[in-house]
Amino acid sequence: FVQRAETPDGGQELYPWVQLSGHRENFRPGLRPGTVLKLLCPCEADCLRQLTADPLLGEFVPRYFGTDGTEFLEMQDLLAEFPGCTGLMDCKMGSRTYLESELDGDPKPRRDLYNKMVEVDADAPTADEAAAQAVAKPRYMMWREQLSSTATLAFRIDGLQRLMASGRTHPVDLKRLRSRPEVSDTLAGFLEGRPDLRDAYLARLRKLRAALAPSEFFALREFIGSSLLFVHDQSPGHACVWMIDFGKIRLAPGRLSHTADWLHGNHEDGYLTGLDNLIGLFEDMQFP
Ligand code: ATP
Ligand code: MG
Ligand code: MG
Repeated sequence: FVQRAETPDGGQELYPWVQLSGHRENFRPGLRPGTVLKLLCPCEADCLRQLTADPLLGEFVPRYFGTDGTEFLEMQDLLAEFPGCTGLMDCKMGSRTYLESELDGDPKPRRDLYNKMVEVDADAPTADEAAAQAVAKPRYMMWREQLSSTATLAFRIDGLQRLMASGRTHPVDLKRLRSRPEVSDTLAGFLEGRPDLRDAYLARLRKLRAALAPSEFFALREFIGSSLLFVHDQSPGHACVWMIDFGKIRLAPGRLSHTADWLHGNHEDGYLTGLDNLIGLFEDMQFP
């Protein structure tokens, strides 16, 4: 859909809304310029409300505008300041992408997840899964982690789009991006050989790291399935990163380091390990 942004001279500018992951039906145009609606999940709405008001983390999240009543939550559209956006990337953070509670109980094996699995690797299902043509969600999530850099770098590139005059490109099969060199190459492509973008992203990521470290909100919560959204355009140094997707943020039983290895019961998510790896990758990025 097409979105509306206010220009500095008080006019309005139209731009296409681009969504890198998740279900298409979950998003709608906002109720006012510069906002977007996302299907309401009370957990996420509560989290966004608190984060918007958080003195440390507020500047790193889309501003929360409440709900439209029952169905959708309204938040800042992060693309509104980038109507001429040329680069957009979603990095799913952490070394685990499912909640501990999702492992408990006996999840019903699903046909759609089986289909998604064989689309990527026909040999991935076990004999039982192949016979049932169904895979349980935690098993599917763990398989995705091992296939991607979630297991090795504690983050993975979940979506990436470079918008060019010629149209859109989707350069690599992101599901199989696993090794550091592969991820580094993909990040380099995203940066279009521009040191100004690397420097702007690095500065913002370091600032985020410095804000997360002392944050009580962060220390007390498990951050699962949450992403960093990277956005830039063609103006020199015009790039930004925000935290998004808070549907699986849960209060942990105690304080988390966000760097320790996960053991069932300790709720560690590896979020800061992933952020440190991301920062290291940007730091090592050299341009001729
Ligand atoms: P999933 O859990 O499968 O990742 P989801 O339905 O929870 O999906 P999000 O991950 O929150 O959805 O968002 C999906 C995509 O929508 C993001 O990758 C990003 O491209 C876009 N998006 C989400 N929130 C915003 C925002 N506030 N401003 C601009 N774009 C956004
Ligand atoms: Mg997401
Ligand atoms: Mg989500």
